Amino acid sequence: MRKYRRFAALAMAAALAGSMTGCQSKPAATETTAATGTEAAAESAPETAAEAAGAYTPGTYSATVTGMKEMTVTVTFDADVITDIQLEHGETPGIGEPVCDTMPGQIIELQGLGIDAVSGATLTSNAILEGVADCVEQAGGDAEALKAIKPEVVKAEDEELTADVVVIGAGGAGMAAAVTANQAGKSVIVIEKTSNMGGNTVLAGGAFNAVDEGSEEALARNDSVEFHYQQTYEGGDEQGDPELVRKLVTEAYGGVEWLMDLGLEFEPGLFTVTGGMWERAHKPVEPEGSGFFKTYQKYMDGHEGITMKYETTAKHLIVEDGVVVGVECEGKTGNQVTVTANNGVILATGGFARNVEMREEYNAETGMWPTLDESILSSNAPSITGDGILMAKEVGAELIQMGNIQLLPLGDPETGSLTGMIGNAVETRIYVNTEGKRFVNEGGRRDEMTLALFEQPDKLMYIVMDSDVYPTGEEKNNFNESINELVEAGRAYKADTLEELAELIGVPAENLTATVEEYNRHCLGGDLEGEADEFGRTLFTDGKKINDGINDAPYYAAARVPTVHHTMGGVKINVNTEVIDTEGNVIPGLYAAGEVTGGIHGTNRLGGNALTDTIVFGRTAGTNAAAFER
Ligand code: ADP
Repeated sequence: MRKYRRFAALAMAAALAGSMTGCQSKPAATETTAATGTEAAAESAPETAAEAAGAYTPGTYSATVTGMKEMTVTVTFDADVITDIQLEHGETPGIGEPVCDTMPGQIIELQGLGIDAVSGATLTSNAILEGVADCVEQAGGDAEALKAIKPEVVKAEDEELTADVVVIGAGGAGMAAAVTANQAGKSVIVIEKTSNMGGNTVLAGGAFNAVDEGSEEALARNDSVEFHYQQTYEGGDEQGDPELVRKLVTEAYGGVEWLMDLGLEFEPGLFTVTGGMWERAHKPVEPEGSGFFKTYQKYMDGHEGITMKYETTAKHLIVEDGVVVGVECEGKTGNQVTVTANNGVILATGGFARNVEMREEYNAETGMWPTLDESILSSNAPSITGDGILMAKEVGAELIQMGNIQLLPLGDPETGSLTGMIGNAVETRIYVNTEGKRFVNEGGRRDEMTLALFEQPDKLMYIVMDSDVYPTGEEKNNFNESINELVEAGRAYKADTLEELAELIGVPAENLTATVEEYNRHCLGGDLEGEADEFGRTLFTDGKKINDGINDAPYYAAARVPTVHHTMGGVKINVNTEVIDTEGNVIPGLYAAGEVTGGIHGTNRLGGNALTDTIVFGRTAGTNAAAFER
């Protein structure tokens, strides 16, 4: 009863706070209230404001929690009201940061914690809620009761909207398509399920493969569009459609120029991204994929005609006389939003890495992975659930190569995210299992490494390296995280000896030291001539200097698990990005670009080719959907 009394007091306080600030949202009736019945309700209803008081010990309390990074949540309480919430955080711009800006205000307005995590930023949302709950408990409040207080949802009016071009999905391909269609003079509506643009693309490392044929850089690296073609086609075990692969590599550099014209700045020089096979990746100056979206936002700030419709989920395509003319969507409050296109409709909803059912169904067809059930995490944003593929299938689209699913052996054990990675170059690290033993060629193919990891106890490994990689500890990974930050957050381990490191990560010390000794022998031995070790590894130098092995303290380790990264299968398209049906005919009015499509990357996507895919095919979809006449 005590619990309930306190909840009731808080609900009362919330109502008071609501009326004080003149806010609209009231705490809704909760399950707790409903379940208690009249007797309890009578007993607990606070008769006066004084009874509502005293739920908290007034003061300021702090809690440290982990979102994408470590976060400090500081909450100030009156006797009965949360008066202030401050966050110290390093959450990702464009993803977690907007939630940090809005959620504290929502909690104060509601005086409750029953707020849904923002889709696409669940880690950040949950961290804030957890931090405030911790402070509530510290202040003597009842966090569980606060979680039962939910904002009242008022169903918004149904809407009917029209634009020339309708784009579904505000990730890399969708935004490239939207801007291109607008450049062609068309009005565009972009439907996006989450509350911001970016999708998976904003989580990417930012590498963009493209060959500027004839440039000094390409000549110096013996690179050509033809070589990019060969590596892409053969890297996918020759399953990619040659015409689509040819288009990808031929138009890649035009994509870089288009982005530069829009104002995106690239770092000088080229690099090889993991699994990219050649030094042809261009990297924006801004971290991760954020530069692309800042560029699109800047374009939209300077041009009229692109309307972003966030927190709106596309459900079904609308077909009239065999032509796709729009999309039926659901708004945030469950209202219906019908969007009609004067010209074409573009599907750009990404892949299906976060749809466990689809993963399992299609993996069963190829048997590529022992299992892809919910125990296997994903590096993808939560909204990447194959919606566009299912919508296209519903209107007769052919789905191809759906069983081609790429995993990486580099997922965070708690979230599957690629954040928390340690080390940048393959050459200077080893992977050991929970027995402290190596089990695979760390320089091998992504699929081979991940399959080997599936065979290890708990499907868990540790990346191990020494301070050659981290001379100061301030060096950052692709996600802007320094090793010092990761160690402090408990996401990586640091020790002065290998024995100590073994103890920290819980592997037998004698095994880890023997493993490292054997590896070091190869580093310093005849392997510079390309001789492979017992796992087939030949990468023992970083190309410029000899790697002397793992022997300089401090030593570092981080745990990693298999994670579903990219789904290469999807909707079948032709070079015009028109969607093809199961009879081999074009579905008029419907275009698709990005990870929602299949048949470009074959069995294995080269690192650095995904962003190229979004720009090359996104631009084509934008141009052709703009030109489509019913
Ligand atoms: P790509 O790399 O192919 O561009 P992304 O993963 O970057 O794909 O972006 C896909 C976008 O589509 C994401 O922002 C995702 O939230 C959005 N999305 C997925 N399903 C739907 C849907 N049913 N309605 C609206 N947007 C969706």
